[in-house]
Amino acid sequence: MRFDIVTIFPEAFESYFNISILKRAQKKGLLKIYFHNLRDWTKDKHQTVDDRPFGGGAGMIFKVEPIFKAVKELKKAKKSRVILFSPRGKLLDQKRVRSLSRYKQIILLCPRYEGVDERVARYIADETISIGNYVLSGGELPAMVLVDAVSRLIPKVIKERSLKEESFSFPDFPCEYPQYTRPAIFYPYPKNKRKAWRVPKILLSGNHKEIEQWKKKQEGL
Ligand code: SAH
Repeated sequence: MRFDIVTIFPEAFESYFNISILKRAQKKGLLKIYFHNLRDWTKDKHQTVDDRPFGGGAGMIFKVEPIFKAVKELKKAKKSRVILFSPRGKLLDQKRVRSLSRYKQIILLCPRYEGVDERVARYIADETISIGNYVLSGGELPAMVLVDAVSRLIPKVIKERSLKEESFSFPDFPCEYPQYTRPAIFYPYPKNKRKAWRVPKILLSGNHKEIEQWKKKQEGL
């Protein structure tokens, strides 16, 4: 699986992709993440990627040409998917994440400013995705969110068992059960032993059958 991220701020990604699960997965060669500076596909001295909107309006719009050239050059796998980010796109959910995890290559387009020439959505992107009904300053965070969520589903990136029990794993399995770890009783104000935050007794009982039932109940099953 290979991700190609097209952005004017490649440096925004480095730190997040170099920690924990994503770092390990890249080291093991399970996935590759490349960042590309959209300005590399411009010809003018100022490496202009944006322009004023036709018909007037606030702010600047990403131009279609550099993005067209970038995608043309980057598209390598047959089973590839080009994704544009926009608050007007289809909402990202686990079902969409799962279907994206089957591609060999995902190209992510991250506009900034007021957005992008609509012809990118119409002719270049295979789909336009929103990560929520709010407005961010650019497509970089949405790209990180998508890469993170999709990567977890690539075989061997995380333990199969973790995936099986995870939230949204099945349509009728909306959320994972609540979890606890030591101590079994936590005293937030050590001098006042009457205030105690306790772990549900059943989890300490050692009765596996009842624990499984409790977990299912918490998930609303
Ligand atoms: N003027 C646009 C917002 C532009 S925000 C509007 O009102 O719809 C700049 C860029 O940030 C967008 O082009 C998109 O790529 C990204 N972005 C902002 N919010 C987003 C969201 N909720 N989901 C996905 N991308 C988003």
